[in-house]
Amino acid sequence: MKKCSSCKADNPDGAKFCRKCGKPLKTVSYSSTKKPKNKKAIYKGTALAIALAGGIGFSLYDNTPERQYQKNIAMGEKYLEKYNFEKAEEYLMMAKSIDPKNEEVYEDLVKVYEAQG
Ligand SMILES: [Zn+2]
Repeated sequence: MKKCSSCKADNPDGAKFCRKCGKPLKTVSYSSTKKPKNKKAIYKGTALAIALAGGIGFSLYDNTPERQYQKNIAMGEKYLEKYNFEKAEEYLMMAKSIDPKNEEVYEDLVKVYEAQG
C-alpha cells in the first residue's frame, strides 16, 4: 500500500499516480530499506575496529610465555567448542610448544582427538 504524500490517500502498490488527487506517488520503500543496511555496515566496521584494537592491546601487554600459553589454550578451547578441531589443534600445539610440561594442553588435545573420532 502506498500513501499519497500530498492528500494521504491509500493507493495500490503498483500505482504511479494518486487515484484521489492525481499527483505522482513517491516510492518510499527504497530509502526505508537502505537505511538499516548502512547501519549494519557501520556496526560491522566498528566491531572489527574494536577487535583489532583489542588484539593490538593484547599483544602489547601480554607478551610473556605464560600469557601466550594461556591465550593459545583459550583459543584452542574456543575452537573446540565450535567443533573447529583443525584450529583447536593448531592453537593447542602452539601452547604445547610453549610449555610442553603442562598437562592441561594434553587433556585438551585428547578432547580434540576424541571428538574427531
Ligand atoms: Zn493524493
